[in-house]
Amino acid sequence: MADEIRYPGPSCSHLASFPPRERWDDWVELDSRAWPARVERRSMLVPTTCFNCESACGLLAYVDRDTNKVRKFEGNPEHPGSRGRNCAKGPATLNQIEDPDRILFPQKRTGPRGGGQWARISWDEALDDIAARIRKAIVDGRENEVMYHVGRPGEDGYTERVLAAWGVDGHNSHTNICSSGSRAGYQFWMGYDRPSPDHANADVILLVSAHLESGHYFNPHAQRILEGKQRGAKLIVLDVRLSNTATHADHWLAPYPGSEAAILLAIANHLIQTGRYDHEFVRRFWNWQEYLRAERPGAPATFESFEAALREIYAAYTFEMAARESGVAAADLLEVARIVATAGTRLSTHSWRSAAAGNLGGWQVSRALFLLNALSGAVATEGGTFPNSWNKFVPRPIHSPPHPRKWNELTWPQDFPLSCNEMSFLLPHFLREGRGRLEVYFSRVYNPVWTNPDGFSWIEALSDEAKVGLHVALTPTWSESANFADYVLPMGLASERHDTHSYETHDAQWLGFRQPVIKAARQRMGGSITDTRQVNPGEVWEENEFWYELSWRIDPDGALSIRKHFESKDRPGEKLSVDEYYAWMFAHSVPGLPEKAAAVGLTPLDYMQRYGAFEISRGVGAQHAQPVPAEELVDTRVVDGRVYTRAPLPESKNVVPLPSPDPDAEGRRPVGIEVDGAVLRGFPTPSGRLEFYSSTLCAWGWPEHALPGYIKSQVHPDHLQPGEMPLIPTFRLPVQIHTRSANSKWLDEIAHTNPLWVHTTDAARLGVTTGDLVRVETRIGHFVVKAWVTEGIRPGVVACSHHMGRWKLHDHGQRQMMATVKLVRQGTRFSLLREKGIAPYASADGDTRRIWWTDSGVHQNLTFPVQPDPVSGMHCWHQAVRICRAAPGDRYGDIVVDTEKARQHYAEWLAKARPAERFSPDGTRRPYWMLRPLRPAREAYRLRSEPPRK
Ligand code: SF4
Repeated sequence: MADEIRYPGPSCSHLASFPPRERWDDWVELDSRAWPARVERRSMLVPTTCFNCESACGLLAYVDRDTNKVRKFEGNPEHPGSRGRNCAKGPATLNQIEDPDRILFPQKRTGPRGGGQWARISWDEALDDIAARIRKAIVDGRENEVMYHVGRPGEDGYTERVLAAWGVDGHNSHTNICSSGSRAGYQFWMGYDRPSPDHANADVILLVSAHLESGHYFNPHAQRILEGKQRGAKLIVLDVRLSNTATHADHWLAPYPGSEAAILLAIANHLIQTGRYDHEFVRRFWNWQEYLRAERPGAPATFESFEAALREIYAAYTFEMAARESGVAAADLLEVARIVATAGTRLSTHSWRSAAAGNLGGWQVSRALFLLNALSGAVATEGGTFPNSWNKFVPRPIHSPPHPRKWNELTWPQDFPLSCNEMSFLLPHFLREGRGRLEVYFSRVYNPVWTNPDGFSWIEALSDEAKVGLHVALTPTWSESANFADYVLPMGLASERHDTHSYETHDAQWLGFRQPVIKAARQRMGGSITDTRQVNPGEVWEENEFWYELSWRIDPDGALSIRKHFESKDRPGEKLSVDEYYAWMFAHSVPGLPEKAAAVGLTPLDYMQRYGAFEISRGVGAQHAQPVPAEELVDTRVVDGRVYTRAPLPESKNVVPLPSPDPDAEGRRPVGIEVDGAVLRGFPTPSGRLEFYSSTLCAWGWPEHALPGYIKSQVHPDHLQPGEMPLIPTFRLPVQIHTRSANSKWLDEIAHTNPLWVHTTDAARLGVTTGDLVRVETRIGHFVVKAWVTEGIRPGVVACSHHMGRWKLHDHGQRQMMATVKLVRQGTRFSLLREKGIAPYASADGDTRRIWWTDSGVHQNLTFPVQPDPVSGMHCWHQAVRICRAAPGDRYGDIVVDTEKARQHYAEWLAKARPAERFSPDGTRRPYWMLRPLRPAREAYRLRSEPPRK
């Protein structure tokens, strides 16, 4: 019985929530399908991690010992982030691995791109062709023609290192259609681009998102938000819709979209004017002295002088002003502000996609939100909000290739020098403008035709072989974008691949291990598996092994100095195996893991294969307030309170990708900040302090936004044309996830449509009722969708979830969640017309005959023009739309777009940018201290050798 108490169930006495880990090798359950007969099923329980969202929750695969197949997935109680709990998408991993429509063998296009004609080929054929093209591009000096475009990476830097080994600045991400808006606001404040709220210990939890159902790290965070509520914390939610999260809030504010920063600044003003803030924290850790020097040189350089300035700066943000902007009553805002004022250092806040992803200037939403933490001193405190990197752990790998020496203008164009991530969604426009071409374009866990705005421009680009020489889609399933590929290569799902990851779920550091569970089970039983294709269905592979093999074929004799980064250390001259890669990592760069493993008689790799996760530390605490050790203070120099040292960087096993503030004029590295005579660690910003005032924004052409402020959205009433209203397209359905979950029959049965949320008053004005067809007109086209009339949304605003509307042009594709459509092109006018909805079908899975739904929703993103925020680079998702009853002849799911209008809209938004060519203060492309995936060598940052032109 003692075993069961390890995972106590609700009774906390005799019922365990999970199988005790001592029995994971041979766990016995009765077969529920054999009921009433008592048939025993024996399973080996093997951990892995979910790959259906960014949370990477732990899963336990129940591998049947007789059939060697996975029977089910449940939560892994050993995982410190998810603690044995999952959302619906975790167990539905079983549907994905059993999906009768998944891709099992490599495919090569045989007709025109997008024509739907494919032939099965061998891996060797694909690898040889791809490797030869990449090799030639590298040898010819065309490295920038190789691009890897990833949606959900699901790993921590593995593929970035592959690209670095090739010497290619070819990393492209999805981040600018996801979270760059929020990240930018955080980065300008603290040098780190994400928050890590300690919800469980907070007194007040303030969310600018639907975090309980779908926000970032939502299952791990949701459980901790509820723990906080159980402790008595007040939950405040800003959301235009009555989301599931808003239904759990103590205070739900439904502001006009884009006005969120005005509300947050009014709350900040309340704290400032009433003196309800942590004066000492502000004095010690804000860069207020820099602000006074730069902006108020005539004022006394005292903290009292700064406090007076602070009162003056925010005096205009009254509750009445915020009420005018947001439509939320001033009295309600005052009530919420009073609650925030009670939180002190126990204020946990989070802003992720949501408002920061929807609006021009959305990055100021997270900057305004973090202002509340920074005022309250609720930074890296129990119940407060941490920088993400302090609650995250990235282990050092066996090989660390050097930084690429070239800069890729297709992903990091001069137009957006402060963009938080790659300008990925503008790629078709850049290719059309002749800014470059692609020889080899990899898409991985990414479906730009469907996920990005302006998808018809992607179809135009991907169909043009002069612009994209070879498109390789690395994917477990058919997708809208894979249809426009040359090779479709089947990659493993969550239980068929290796990855490591670590995320900021709470104040701790942990490492999770994703692994092919059949391989791990067979190895545990004494088998030898050397390639995941030996255990995966068909010829499904994993990227880790794929990249090794491809890299060897690019550089077969090692002459390009690529191969050495993929060679074994144990067997010099031979290919590195994935087991050696992870064995080295776990043994050499995860503090505490070797000791913990040895204590139970395991190697570090065995330990991770058995338990799937390891907690490195808890209670990481306030790193910024840590004194810098004396041995790091060698030949120091202090410049404006920033301390520089000649001491080398200490040896550290923890390779967190930190920003890199510049050295001083004599080459010393920044090491800390002076605070009341002591040298403390501070933050990795240019000043070393929390940057209330951003000298970076000021120097790079945005002085008017150097402080936390409010920028009017593109859907602000001032910017709407007559008859337009805002469309909110950014919200998730809790059980679906972009294009990764359509192959989950359980999830599809629960959620398979995305009607337009219309308030009752708007419905009455438009003359529509629930189920009526309406036409939603954007500035470049329209789509036809059903209305859902509700009071759960702010009047004057409509909303539609983006997790629906999957489609296919041919037979290749998911049948349970992709409608069959016809693509019609007349010049620049594209239409997508639905030919067939969802219907039952015969397959190896008997359930597909029982499909009862016919709907799969409507794909709205195709009708959205690109709207790049000129600072963060984030696509501003909210749309100005006109809604009317469907016209005669309109049919459900119709989509019509003119890509010429899309180009005009792109040009209008591009004109808002302030390019490095004109605004760089130092002749570089981008501030070196700012984060950048796959950071190139420093010399690649230079725009030119001459002084900057002003
Ligand atoms: S929150 Fe759900 S989808 Fe995301 S990793 Fe966890 S179980 Fe998977």
